[in-house]
Amino acid sequence: MKKHNFSAGPSILPQTVFEKASQAVIDFENTGLSILEISHRSSEFLNVIERARALALELAGLDDSYEALFLHGGASTQFLSVPYNLLENKAAYIDTGTWANKALKEAQMFGKVEVIASSKDTGYRHIPKEYSIPKDIDYLHITTNNTIYGTQYHSLPTTKVPLVADASSDIFSRTMDYSKFSVIYAGSQKNIGPSGSTLVLIKKDVLGKVSRKIPSILSYENQIGNESMFNTPTTFSIYVNLLVLEWIQAKGGLQGMEKLNQVKAELIYNEIDRNPLVLGYANTEDRSLMNVVFNLKDTSAEILFDALCEEAGISGIKGHRSVGGYRASIYNAMPLESVQLLVEVLQLLERKS
Ligand SMILES: *Cc1c(COP(=O)(O)O)cnc(C)c1O
Repeated sequence: MKKHNFSAGPSILPQTVFEKASQAVIDFENTGLSILEISHRSSEFLNVIERARALALELAGLDDSYEALFLHGGASTQFLSVPYNLLENKAAYIDTGTWANKALKEAQMFGKVEVIASSKDTGYRHIPKEYSIPKDIDYLHITTNNTIYGTQYHSLPTTKVPLVADASSDIFSRTMDYSKFSVIYAGSQKNIGPSGSTLVLIKKDVLGKVSRKIPSILSYENQIGNESMFNTPTTFSIYVNLLVLEWIQAKGGLQGMEKLNQVKAELIYNEIDRNPLVLGYANTEDRSLMNVVFNLKDTSAEILFDALCEEAGISGIKGHRSVGGYRASIYNAMPLESVQLLVEVLQLLERKS
């Protein structure tokens, strides 16, 4: 029986995408070849990557001053690609948790890094709101959604310096002014596909400003010049990215996603606030629509809750090891019915306790 998968990543994808992708593994669009065996230089694959790049820009509402790349190496490689390509003198980072920290540690190898705000003092339960952004920086880096702590920016920093974001866990989950970003990147495996590919949206005018030499594979300019095909790209992952982006588009684009995601998040947060056994982790105003982190007030109830989840076919809700408790990741592809089921299990736990 298909499980209700609340895993933080790799994570749930639309069922129709699983079906189309598995068909393409056998016979890709009636070519008599598997998607796994066609050349990345074949017209069939070129068509896939071109459609995926164009659709990524279209969904984000970005014009041709931007480029979309599908690169190797996950978001973690972007942690170093960003400073490699953009950091000449100084960058500012906002520390909102584990991933933000990993990003800024890489940047420190390339230049001066100023951490202008941190939410460490509250155990990363909030998004910092008061800070001043230096004018003499090459860019400001934020993490739009903090996957581990379940916090999310609900309004973006206002600044004239280039804004860079790791949006791995909330890319294309809501409407947002993407043109506020000079670079926005996301590992695929949360909202837009399988692990392997990494979507990077880049405003071209931010490039060409550093004096260092950049290795070809990491150079955004080189990747743009080679139309995201400097070497063999992650062909299958990119094909699945295309299927997911088409699914998002068919569901009403980012507006459609946002509506659905708001309904799902409200349902589960309402139960967290109502249920006397449960404690939400993040501050209410900064709660993530994607990762819902909660604890049971009495941890001895975890045995019963785990058993009830298992019985209901709920999988992947154990919290990150640094926070404990539970984390329900309710990405784009998570159906409302699965969230409803989790709410029912929390109510069942209350009745049985
Ligand atoms: C999962 C995650 C990452 C790590 O992504 P990789 O693709 O494994 O490198 C980075 N940032 C955020 C916000 C994440 O959620």
